[in-house]
Amino acid sequence: MALVGDVEIKDVFRGGVIPDGFYGVGYGFVVFKRDEISPHIGEDRFPQIMVAQFSRHYTPFGCDYTIQMRGSSTVLRRFLCADLLLTAGLNTIRFTVLYTKLAGSNGDNGMRKAIAGLAMGVLILMCSTFSSSAKGYQNFRVAVYCRAQEVNQMGDANWLATRWDEVSRQVKVDKVYLETHRDVVLVDEKTIAAAKKFFEDKGIEVAGGITYTVMESNRFQTFCYTKPESRKRVREIAEYTAKLFNEVILDDFFFTNCKCEACIKAKGSQSWSEFRIDLMKGAARNLVVGPAKAVNPKVKMVIKYPNWYEHFQGCGFNLETQPKIFDGIYTGTETRDPVYTDQHLQQYESYLIYRYFENIKPGGNGGGWVDTGAMRYMDRYAEQLWLTLFAKAPEITLFDFRRAFGPIPDGLRGDWQGGQTSFDYNEMMQPIKLADGTTVMPSTMARPAGYSFELVDKFLGKLGNPVGVKSYKPYHSTGEDFLQNYIGMCGIPMDLLPEFPAEANVIFLTESAKFDKEIVAKIKKQLVDGKTVVITSGLYKALQGKPFDKNQGGGIEDIVELRIGDEKAVTKQFWRRRDFWGRSGKVYESKSPIVIPEIKYLTNDSWEEISCLASGIGYPILHSADYANSRLYVLAIPDNYGDLYNLPAEILTQIRDVLAKEMYVRLDGPSQVAMFVYDNDTFIVESFLPEGVDVKIVADKRISKLSDILTGEELTGEAVSTQPRRLGQAAPAPDKTVFKMTIKPHSYRVFKCE
Ligand SMILES: [Zn+2]
Repeated sequence: MALVGDVEIKDVFRGGVIPDGFYGVGYGFVVFKRDEISPHIGEDRFPQIMVAQFSRHYTPFGCDYTIQMRGSSTVLRRFLCADLLLTAGLNTIRFTVLYTKLAGSNGDNGMRKAIAGLAMGVLILMCSTFSSSAKGYQNFRVAVYCRAQEVNQMGDANWLATRWDEVSRQVKVDKVYLETHRDVVLVDEKTIAAAKKFFEDKGIEVAGGITYTVMESNRFQTFCYTKPESRKRVREIAEYTAKLFNEVILDDFFFTNCKCEACIKAKGSQSWSEFRIDLMKGAARNLVVGPAKAVNPKVKMVIKYPNWYEHFQGCGFNLETQPKIFDGIYTGTETRDPVYTDQHLQQYESYLIYRYFENIKPGGNGGGWVDTGAMRYMDRYAEQLWLTLFAKAPEITLFDFRRAFGPIPDGLRGDWQGGQTSFDYNEMMQPIKLADGTTVMPSTMARPAGYSFELVDKFLGKLGNPVGVKSYKPYHSTGEDFLQNYIGMCGIPMDLLPEFPAEANVIFLTESAKFDKEIVAKIKKQLVDGKTVVITSGLYKALQGKPFDKNQGGGIEDIVELRIGDEKAVTKQFWRRRDFWGRSGKVYESKSPIVIPEIKYLTNDSWEEISCLASGIGYPILHSADYANSRLYVLAIPDNYGDLYNLPAEILTQIRDVLAKEMYVRLDGPSQVAMFVYDNDTFIVESFLPEGVDVKIVADKRISKLSDILTGEELTGEAVSTQPRRLGQAAPAPDKTVFKMTIKPHSYRVFKCE
């Protein structure tokens, strides 16, 4: 099995990854020859490698190889560079094969063994100080996901022991996922068996993992699910993995973005979304779960969905049918930096997406999953972990092993550090006391995770079940993408559901609800039943202009005649008609101008609740219309959802008074402060602002005191009336208790109501 040229590389390239027809292996990468790879991948993206020159050079740890290539393309080089340990030059690949990978191969044995012995001695010396793994956390389990590229190296016991000990001294780990496949790296059985034994001997639970990518670095290139040879490969990987594990999780990539000619033909006249939703439903059943169970009837098959739920249908993730086909689901709660990433996911999603998936498969959502990517300050990593746990995930997976043993990067200490914020960087960097009494210094990214877990494990057990304002998002729907997360960031606890929550007294609907053809009839029913419905300007716009038909969608004018066209208002001034204390109206200004859609209405038929002013003209921000036994509200959503954060605190509070009226506690304060509310009179206020913020908590009258669960501090409230005082009448009796508090930057406070 030589590569082209006069160099026999077979003996060098050993150590895993030898599926049929593949040229394997290097230390963390694979080299292919076009004829061999194409039947498996269904793509012709891998050019043949022409080796012009080949050299090796011994070092104390392994052999440095240099391959000079001819005839390789940019695509190949990109691929190799993506996962190579060492790489350089236009046509040159350099990498190191550790001595343990070479054991048993031919040539130069004497020298290799001598140097290998030396290297082993060093490793054994390093290992002698490691302790055994510690007991886990009280309120959740922690798993570490290991990519195929790392699992592939786990046949080397010293490599694994060194890194595992480094990680497990800094974070308590209950479980590992060992991936068998990613980017056509397939780990061999012998290596998997060695890795399994290593972890099981330490009492760590072991499950398998699969990433169905062909080339992650090439725009997440997935498998083709149309071509027979590619489908066959998907099935083989599922069977192979199920044979080795009793639990298997699929990482983020069980979708397809293939637009090869076969897929274009198979799609026919359907939309890509329709075609792929159906295609991947079949693939789940016939290529993954079915074949896996045929090989191992005991295997539990779990699908992990990533964070882009609003767009899943486009690539065939099927939230409607797949969660029923798989034994379990798992949630990508990684949100990373909200500004400097392509996705711009809001911090609140780390919480909401877990709740959403829990509502899709109640009791079947195994946990949340966070990585260390794209952050400007370390608090952001902690926030993702915390919010996953505030959503009551029973398990949290750290992606991934490689990153967990990677060093703590410089420059992630936030400007607010030193002020006793929730994530205290200096405290995180303190020596860690191990079970055997020794201490170690934090050294890798495992430590920020371990530290963050220790902080919240102290109080998670005191929280009940999360509650929030129910918002309905039909399966495969999109529209006003991810908007519920912005609302969550405005201090309104949200709950996202795939079925219409008819029992809820307040429902919030965004444009995505238009995908339910009966939505107008359902809104009417809520209003007849005396329940409140708040819809966005985007939903109204989508539903207007058609006659009402119970089954055809549209016809929102049957409830109230508004017109929402393409006209916009640009405004900085917001007029709150009545303030919290019942006094007359006042104008509040936003920091910068906001562009909102104009809601046009018929005088005396419907009413402005909150208005904005521009050049002496007013436009509704929150509008309302009576219908049957209740009231429909329409909330104007700024063209840029981020402008919701620019709304003055007083305006946000009035919106909260409507949307969160069923909550026993509500926030009165600026945006980017979130509330997490539980059904046992406990709640969390968390600020994502870079500076401290004063907020008020408006609680039901029955609540007279708040106990800070972390500090023991007790806050006494002020009884107030939120009702207007009418002329000539006595002041209305108090109906709320108001508590004042300060929240530090990027910090949370946890309270029990009394
Ligand atoms: Zn295809």
